[in-house]
Amino acid sequence: MEPITHRVCQKFLPRVLGVTCRNRSSSASNPAPIYSRCATHLVSRIYQPSNLRDMVQDSRSPDEMICKSQRLMQQAGLIHPFNPGCYFYLPTIVRSMEKLVRLIDQEMEGIGGQKLDMPSLCSADLWKSSERWDLMGKELFRLKDRHGADYCLGPTHEEAVTTLVAYQSTMSHRQLPLLLYQITRKFRDEPKPRFGLLRGREFYMKDMYSFDMNEEAAYQTYESVCQAYTRLFSRLGLRCVQVQAGTGNIGGKLSHEFQLPADIGEDRLLVCGTCSFSANEETMSSRQTNCPQCKTGKLVESKGIEVGHTFYLGTKYSHIFNAAFSNSQNKPTIIEMGCFGLGVTRILAAAIEVMSTEEGIRWPGLLAPYQVCVLPPKKGSRVDEVAGLAVELAQTLGGTLPHLRGEVVLDDRTQMTIGKRLKDAQRLGYPYVVVVGQSTLEETPKFEVICQQTGETMFLGKDGLVDLLQRVETI
Ligand code: ATP
Ligand code: MG
Repeated sequence: MEPITHRVCQKFLPRVLGVTCRNRSSSASNPAPIYSRCATHLVSRIYQPSNLRDMVQDSRSPDEMICKSQRLMQQAGLIHPFNPGCYFYLPTIVRSMEKLVRLIDQEMEGIGGQKLDMPSLCSADLWKSSERWDLMGKELFRLKDRHGADYCLGPTHEEAVTTLVAYQSTMSHRQLPLLLYQITRKFRDEPKPRFGLLRGREFYMKDMYSFDMNEEAAYQTYESVCQAYTRLFSRLGLRCVQVQAGTGNIGGKLSHEFQLPADIGEDRLLVCGTCSFSANEETMSSRQTNCPQCKTGKLVESKGIEVGHTFYLGTKYSHIFNAAFSNSQNKPTIIEMGCFGLGVTRILAAAIEVMSTEEGIRWPGLLAPYQVCVLPPKKGSRVDEVAGLAVELAQTLGGTLPHLRGEVVLDDRTQMTIGKRLKDAQRLGYPYVVVVGQSTLEETPKFEVICQQTGETMFLGKDGLVDLLQRVETI
């Protein structure tokens, strides 16, 4: 990494870091703190207020029961509660969310998805056309504009996107399949918002809508989205099951849920012990114990968190809004549709729920907000002299390994012991923690490297460390 020039240092760092830098006039007796010269993220400057205390005081009713991911996320300063089911997403979790969005973008673009962004304010007329204005009941957040016209805040966008596609009266069969998706806030007045980001009233969803020329093509699209979802969860290291599901008030002919098995999950699944059959209990006749597919296997019940949902809609919405294309004989034909949701904020919380220990967050490697945390020694300790090495290490890691640019933090809170800061690092779950301490003073300096995903501790020289971190996958 390039050294910070005097001008940059004088003009920029003092303002950002609130420190004075060494310059021509600074004296040896009053040197600038070395950490301020480090161009990596400093833990002391990251806004991540822990708010566990408020949460414990607030959560007296059983409905507000705290689950592991919620506790860990509030403890680590990732989220802060605001209204029921609404949270501040603090800077550290926003980094993870942006990574998840990049991953979703890759997978959606991989199957031909095009990203757009639709308005959240949706006119009641559209929702009345599909009859969902009444069907949605209290779940819909409703409001009036200054002229008295009714609106809702979008909980999903079938009506909106179908109207958009219907505007284009000259759509040709050559333009199909068309896959449009967005990653935006959704609003649902949930009866029981709880468990942090697992069930919010305002949350992020990826919703994709597909448009095909016939049923067969629509089934192919449906299959390719399911495969993309499977790939996405496998890249996150999450063991997800795809189960048959009901179509609820979205409607349509075929539907699957992507469920992450977890005790905190609110869905009940039946999974066959012999074949690949699995279904949401809602779709099965009650008390069924034998597998309807292979007939011999026993169905085992487990709980799951629904992280994704796919629907084959047919012409339900395209018929209402007259979304059509001209086929190869130039005849106007109603479009076949599918819709495909992923709970973006729910995936973050669910991953934390199933991967973490009680003491600390464990992330899907790709989503860790930072990959590496470097811990310099405590100020005034016997090994204080290696503090400079820690700064240098943090800088070179971010500089020599391009995929780690911006991924290294330095825990400069050197008034605290290494032990205390290690505990915080465990809580936040940086995949790699590098302690610059005692063993750095040995003849061949070694860093203590804790790999938090595996719990392994290694002592590595700088080359060994670079070698290890070279293999870290980032997005
Ligand atoms: P649930 O049964 O959990 O209420 P849903 O079936 O109503 O969810 P969908 O309409 O299928 O949800 O929405 C698509 C995805 O959005 C879901 O699979 C889920 O991952 C996510 N999601 C839905 N509701 C919420 C919520 N209240 N908070 C966070 N994520 C949600
Ligand atoms: Mg669903």
